[in-house]
Order: sequence, then C-alpha cells, then structure tokens
Amino acid sequence: MRKIPVFFSALLILAAFLPFSSCQRENVHTVYAITAEYAPAERTLSADMSVAYVNQTENVKEELFFLLYPNAFQEGTTPPVSPMRAPAAYYDGESYGKLEILSVDGGTYSVDGTCLCIFLDEPLYPKEEVQISMTFQTVLPKVNHRFGVGETCVNLAHFYPLLTEEEYCDVPPVGDPFVSECSDYEVSLTLPEEYSLACGGEVQTIAQTGKKTYHILSENVRDFAVVFGKGLSCSEMQVSGVTVEYWAKDEGEEGLRAAVDALAFFSRTFGQYPYEKYVVVRTDLDEGGMEYPALSMVSSALHPSEVPTVTVHETAHQWWYSAVGSNQVEEAWMDEGLAEYSTALFFDAHPTYGLGREEYVSRAERAYRAYYSVKTQLLQGADTSMRRPLSSFSNGYEYVNLAYHKSTVLFDRVRLCVGDGKFYSALKDYYREFSGKIAAAEDLIACFHRAFGHVEELFSSFLDGKCVV
Ligand SMILES: [Zn+2]
Repeated sequence: MRKIPVFFSALLILAAFLPFSSCQRENVHTVYAITAEYAPAERTLSADMSVAYVNQTENVKEELFFLLYPNAFQEGTTPPVSPMRAPAAYYDGESYGKLEILSVDGGTYSVDGTCLCIFLDEPLYPKEEVQISMTFQTVLPKVNHRFGVGETCVNLAHFYPLLTEEEYCDVPPVGDPFVSECSDYEVSLTLPEEYSLACGGEVQTIAQTGKKTYHILSENVRDFAVVFGKGLSCSEMQVSGVTVEYWAKDEGEEGLRAAVDALAFFSRTFGQYPYEKYVVVRTDLDEGGMEYPALSMVSSALHPSEVPTVTVHETAHQWWYSAVGSNQVEEAWMDEGLAEYSTALFFDAHPTYGLGREEYVSRAERAYRAYYSVKTQLLQGADTSMRRPLSSFSNGYEYVNLAYHKSTVLFDRVRLCVGDGKFYSALKDYYREFSGKIAAAEDLIACFHRAFGHVEELFSSFLDGKCVV
C-alpha cells in the first residue's frame, strides 16, 4: 500500500522547486495534487493545486484550458439548475458560487467566465510534460446540487479547475458538460471533525484539534468528487471482490441492495468493475442522481420506489462514463442511452424488482412519442437528431427525450436486430477496448458491426433524426 502522507510531502517539495518544467514522458496520466481546506461558515474551499500534464496529443500546445465550473453559479449568470426545480433546489433563496484563481506559477493566465486559459512559457511538444501550480478559492452556493452546500450535505464536485479542451470550457444549462481524460488524483482535504466523508478513493485520515484531514488517492479517474455531512452513516457489503459502501442519513436498504445487485450484474455482463470500492451516497440533489468515478450521488428526496432505478442507472455509468468515456458535450446519447438501456437489462434479469425490460423500454418510447407529438404540433416539425452539442438543446425536456428516451429505444432496436448474444458481445468488446479512453460514436458502432455486420444505417436513422419512432 502506498504511504500517502510521505508521498504528499515529497510532491509538495517537488512542486515548490519545480513550479514549471518539462521533460519527456510517455503513456502516463495527468496527476492532480490538491491540498484544500473547507470553511463551513463562509462556504469556501481554499486550495493549492499542482497539475503534472503530459501532452498525449500529436500537436504542440502553447496553452492549456481548464473548466471553472463554479463560475457558472456567479451572480448575473444562468446556473445549470433546471428553472422548474430551482425554487426547491435553492432552499434558502438566492445563493451564488464562484472559483477565483489567486495565483498561477509558471505561466500567465486569463479567466473568461468558466474558462481558465494558461499561456505556457514554452511550447509543449508531444510526449513532453509540464508542471504547473496554482492557488484558488472556491465559494459553494447554497443549493441542492452536485456542486453546492445542500440542506444536509455538501456535494463537492467540479470544485477545482479541470483540464479540458477549449471547446469544452462552457457550462450550458442542461446535461453534464464534462470531457476529461483519465487522471490520477492525490487530494488532501481538511474538514471540521463533525463531518463524515464519502469518497470513492483510498483514504487515510489524520485527526487534528477540531479537524480531520483526509488523504485521498484516486487513480485512473476522469473526475474527482466527494460528499460530506453531519450524521451520515455507512453500511457496506462485498460483491465480486469490491467493497460497496452505502452512505445515508436514514436507513434504507433498497439502495444498497440495488447497488450490490447492479455491480454484480454489470461486472458479469460487460466486464469487471474497474475500482476496488464503489460508494453510493444519498444526498441533496436537484436531479435523481449523478455519477462520478467510484461514487454515485443519489437524491435523498426520491420516493423509495424510485431509488432502485436511479441507483442502477448511476451504477451503469461506472461502465459507461467512468471507465469508457464518451464526449458528453457532443454525444450525450452515448453514455446516457447505454446507462438507461443497461438499467432495462438489469431489471429484465432481476424480476424481483417488478420492472421488466419491455416495460422500461415502452415507458421511454411513450415518453418520447409524447414529446415528439407536442413538439410537432407546436412547432410544425421537430429536429430529432441526437448528435448535437448540449448548447443546442432548448431545455431539459428536449435533452431527456433525445439523450435518454430515444437512445433507449435505439439500443433496444439494435438488440432486437443483432440478437442477445451479439449485442452483449459487442458491449463487452466496447468495454474492453475503450476502458480508460474516450470513445467516439463510430467506435461504439464499429463494435456492433464487428459482432453482427451492417448496423450503421440503423444507428444513423436514429442519430440523424430520419426514422419515426
Ligand atoms: Zn445518467
């Protein structure tokens, strides 16, 4: 086992002497080292971060871009919270968040809304590494949201500058606007001692007077998130060699059972779960759930009957998002459709949950047809293409119907066309080949092509909006 505190000290010393340097390295992840402390009275997180980035592209880079998600919550902006849900989500009235960059070592920088651009002092050639460090302060809004101080818990996601490409530095009102490569995170997080921490990484805790510092190591993940709060308790079970932790304020076994059953089913069906631990935490959200590597947030406001469906969907994202990445900004149908259809397959294999695949798919189909009917009647026609950037969706209703419901119907049509055996074989290949990478739509379609033959027209008829469902 890695001795994290020693490693942290060494890394901080290294960062102090080498704020900006480059050398040749190949096939290594970006390493984020974050030291942060949360102050609950001010809802602020004060942090130092160093990023060791290796240019894995074939292009020379002169700039690096980071997404500053908290700046989508600044006063005067439209936050990524559904207008319908905003009154309940902002439980204490208006509240704002932001991320302020205080310093950057090794380069000049500019901030434009949710985009941080660092102008490198020297061009970064392919396979070269650069180390940059920065200090920042994040203010969390009071909102039941994946990023925010909720009514009972703090959801600490997207709180740090996330390395991405320039075109993915915006935060549209709908969807999950995150496109990031798998990286390694070494995080040192200090919290008041009364909080409990739910986290998917390997954790060592050091108690101080009135505080606790958590040293967290998360490797091979494309994002880093934790949840903390007072009075959270944890139940756990082992399945397929994985520890499943279920964090909640109130007991409720339906979520833990669904998480365990789903983890076992998807491991058997698609390939082994990629981490040693899987954490589900019931917390304050404006949506049903949200996925992070090795951690799923599931809303504590759900009716008990909704908990299994949301938990299974978020668990499926461990395969279709955490392991196999896709472009969530331009191809949201890929991971959402696969997570939804995997949920339908799970229920088909687990009749005790009382919801079969056919019913699950027909619900999606009915919802999509209702959307299509409304849209065509109101607007004399509807653009039902699925390959489109998040910014092109006019609202959450359109997004859900195209990225979730229509995509569910698409995967059901594909399964009916190719047969169960080849359908599962294609998804196993997809998982094996693209784990740890970001797959394009063509990569997914090619897996079905290899298993069955020509499926391109079936996919394109849905994706391009040509077929009538
Ligand atoms: Zn989802």
